Amino acid sequence: MIHSPVLVINSGSSSLKFSVFDMQSGREVLSGLAERLEAPDALLSWRGEGEKQRRKIPDQGHEGALREVHALLDSMGAPVAIGHRVVHGGEAFSGSVVIDEGVIEGIDRCASLAPLHNPANLLGIRAMQRLYPSTPQVAVFDTAFHQTLAPEAYLYPVPIRLYREQGVRRYGFHGTSHQYVAGEAVRRLELDPDDHGLITAHLGNGCSATAVRNGCSVDTTMGMTPLEGLVMGTRSGDVDPGLHEFLAERLGLTLSEITAMLNRESGLLGLSELSNDMRTLADAAASGNDNAQRAIDVFCFRLARHIGALAASLTRVDALVFTGGIGENAVPVREQVLKHLPLFGFECDADLNRHHGDDLGRITTPGSPAALVIPTREEWVIANDAYRLTHH
Ligand code: ADP
Repeated sequence: MIHSPVLVINSGSSSLKFSVFDMQSGREVLSGLAERLEAPDALLSWRGEGEKQRRKIPDQGHEGALREVHALLDSMGAPVAIGHRVVHGGEAFSGSVVIDEGVIEGIDRCASLAPLHNPANLLGIRAMQRLYPSTPQVAVFDTAFHQTLAPEAYLYPVPIRLYREQGVRRYGFHGTSHQYVAGEAVRRLELDPDDHGLITAHLGNGCSATAVRNGCSVDTTMGMTPLEGLVMGTRSGDVDPGLHEFLAERLGLTLSEITAMLNRESGLLGLSELSNDMRTLADAAASGNDNAQRAIDVFCFRLARHIGALAASLTRVDALVFTGGIGENAVPVREQVLKHLPLFGFECDADLNRHHGDDLGRITTPGSPAALVIPTREEWVIANDAYRLTHH
């Protein structure tokens, strides 16, 4: 028996993730992925209580895949709410909202800022409205948590009319993850909710770090798009803005070819010429691959450099929090980043780090400022917001 099932949908351009939570126990009772949507080899895979299962869903698009999800949910009873991850909420959304026509128009208006993501998110929302016409739906935005940034943190030093007329500013992403792990750090370390300073590092395929003061995001490394900031799997993060013209002239590349190179062929992949995957690189580096080690070194140096910059927005650093696939698992990355930050006084406890932290997730020695490993739970945050906004 599943109590108050809430369905979470993360609808991307060619893939779609879904999960169902039992809201009484917080348990994830179903999770799955539909990938290569619209292609002849489109595949649905999912895991419920038992073994992982998969089925081909050839040439199915978002709506077809969601019809399959609808059928999978049949045995559980209809969800009491549906939460959607929406990438870009622009300045229109500073928190999660119940979806109505006005909200759909708002998400559509933000599509120019996230042309690959928002339209795919909307496809998921529309399809679920047709499949579950009487179930309330909620949008949870990647950008919302960062709407507390002050103008000096979010404005780019370019002509101000670009902000006024085109919405050119820093928005930040991964907000649900940063908010969740920051809240967890406050709870675990028993910090004062109204008086604390944290730096959260979400390190997955995409990577960003955020300064959190008293529960609010005050600075973050991603900007107008998720390309700014840290080194990522295939994304470059920060580069000299002069690079574009240099490459255009030298290599005859168009702007969109350069953007594609910075998004898909750079970062860990570009540096290592081996892989975008940190686990593969860590294994290769351990067996003496210099290219892999160099990619990890740049990743860690730039992360440390950004952490230093983020600290400028805080009066005190109560903890540095690592999360995401790399943050939660890559032991040498955490160690190397802490080593780069001697001014902060971090002292990594090698044993705790190897075990991904003590009961609280702490990987530093007792005298050191805290560095924590906290697994992120983005889907749970979305489920929780969807339930909270529709059932209280
Ligand atoms: P996404 O951003 O797509 O949700 P994840 O948060 O799952 O991605 O992070 C994926 C990254 O985590 C990959 O670079 C992967 O290699 C890395 N990762 C996962 N497990 C390990 C591990 N044991 N050691 C090092 N890196 C790991």
